[in-house]
Amino acid sequence: MPLIGENDATNSPETIHNSNQSDKLGELMSFEQMPPWLHDNPFILTGYRAINKNYHVYIKSIFIFHNETLNIWSHMIASLYFFRLIGEIGESRGPFCRIKNRAPMLAFLLSAFLGFGISAVYHTWSPLSERARTLLVKLDYVGITNLVTNGFVAWIYYSFSNSEIQSIYLSSIMIGGLIMTIISQVETFNDQDSRHIRAGTFVFFGSAALAPACYLIYKSWTEEKMAMIVQELTLTIMVFILAIIIYTSRFPESFFPGKFDYFGSSHSLFHWLVIVAILHHYKALVNIAKKSKQRGDSIFWPN
Ligand SMILES: [Zn+2]
Repeated sequence: MPLIGENDATNSPETIHNSNQSDKLGELMSFEQMPPWLHDNPFILTGYRAINKNYHVYIKSIFIFHNETLNIWSHMIASLYFFRLIGEIGESRGPFCRIKNRAPMLAFLLSAFLGFGISAVYHTWSPLSERARTLLVKLDYVGITNLVTNGFVAWIYYSFSNSEIQSIYLSSIMIGGLIMTIISQVETFNDQDSRHIRAGTFVFFGSAALAPACYLIYKSWTEEKMAMIVQELTLTIMVFILAIIIYTSRFPESFFPGKFDYFGSSHSLFHWLVIVAILHHYKALVNIAKKSKQRGDSIFWPN
């Protein structure tokens, strides 16, 4: 079996631009020099790594400065940070000392570790070949969907205790996650001009948590724990939606083409906002679980 990128039709001489320069890592390309399948953002004009069949070159490229360096490092560091948190929760006391209460939090942290890790891999190797890029982008969507799904599952688990409504929401979110994963694998979903459809689908899926939040407001807004639960989730969703708006609008580079090739592009801001949203969600889950345990919610009872 050839490795991804080797003997690939997309690496034909017609599609490899400047292949004779591709081993010179420090030599970066312009947007026009890249093949059409890498024409993702026409407002990022410079700083592209050359196409290279050798995937080792991209590992080295992590340590040079190009227009993907910050995208790689931001999610790589986030991935390692969430990996560390997995260990901390495993040893923690309080609401997470019993395995059944720890499991939803561990699943959320594991999906954050994998989701950010896959994103870093995608940004590292996406110019390897068209086939590699398509595979990695699909994997990236699976990682995001898995992270959002597990974020909701943990939030619903710690917020609703063992009620019937909890089972209904948990099943709906898991079915929604499965549907979202299937949709993200459809070829047209990954097209460069389907950006708005992609963003809309993720916002719709991400906002699905508003249904249980509305239920909580209706039921018992005045209760201290319920008010906190809704406030925490609202903040996560607002940061998440802001991240999607910036991703879709391609602000600020759409107003100043070429000025944000290396720093502060929409994709870079999107990465940082997603990290903020997931970190906030983690802290919110810890607070909600502590409050639920203090109240003596039935999910914390021994079986
Ligand atoms: Zn990204």
